[in-house]
Amino acid sequence: TEQQLRHADRLSTLGTLAAGMAHEIGTPLGVISGRAQLIASGDLPADQARNSARVIKEESDRISRIVRGLLDFARRGSLRRTSVNLRDLTRQTIELLEPLTSKSKVIIDLQATDPTLMSEIDANQMQQVLTNLLMNATEAMPSGGTVDVILDRESRVPQQSPDSRPEMFHRIDVIDRGAGIAEEDLEHLFEPFFTTKSIGKGTGLGLSIAYGIVHDHGGWIEVDSEPGRGSRFSVFLPVASQQESGT
Ligand code: ADP
Ligand code: MG
Repeated sequence: TEQQLRHADRLSTLGTLAAGMAHEIGTPLGVISGRAQLIASGDLPADQARNSARVIKEESDRISRIVRGLLDFARRGSLRRTSVNLRDLTRQTIELLEPLTSKSKVIIDLQATDPTLMSEIDANQMQQVLTNLLMNATEAMPSGGTVDVILDRESRVPQQSPDSRPEMFHRIDVIDRGAGIAEEDLEHLFEPFFTTKSIGKGTGLGLSIAYGIVHDHGGWIEVDSEPGRGSRFSVFLPVASQQESGT
């Protein structure tokens, strides 16, 4: 049944996650352990000891970030749906990110062409989705620029049941004019721990969390990107409220 399938889905995601986690946390832990041993040996010049301490700090911060990301992953249990105005939710999320985006000289422009913006969704989890997409868009434009967010509706065949008839979906586009995504990276984008960002910046969990949440809502995310031109991430959410919960 669909329920069992979704469960299997979840389990395989967990397996991938556990394997990735062992690797992602194991590497910095090894570095920390080695540096601590060096310092403990007692015969390091002061500047080298300081340097090792700095490395330990950086690697610990990296582990903290990963653990925080995993908590976001774990926290999404069953959905707590309420009636949410998508435009208000998006506007709030953009405001929350303002300190970050303005620091990067990024302006987020919200356009809502959808006349009916109410949706039965988990507001906190959907805010997480928007945050992750907007952060990625901002990070893709290191020298600033405009990110367009467009709310619309579209009739689509549900990706989760490809044999059924088209239904109405909310569509949220997040469009940046940043670096774009290399062809060979596209198929890995939603895998936990896939990142092209330097150590200390990316955890590679943002998109996998976003995808999981949108999937639990009966929707999906599409990507259209051209290296050097920018990227468009499109979130599709059912307009008709769905009865299933995410577990
Ligand atoms: P992270 O941002 O921590 O690297 P994500 O799961 O959020 O992890 O994204 C995974 C990867 O997808 C990023 O490292 C980047 O290569 C690519 N990516 C995501 N969004 C964008 C974007 N808007 N523009 C370019 N690349 C992107
Ligand atoms: Mg990210």
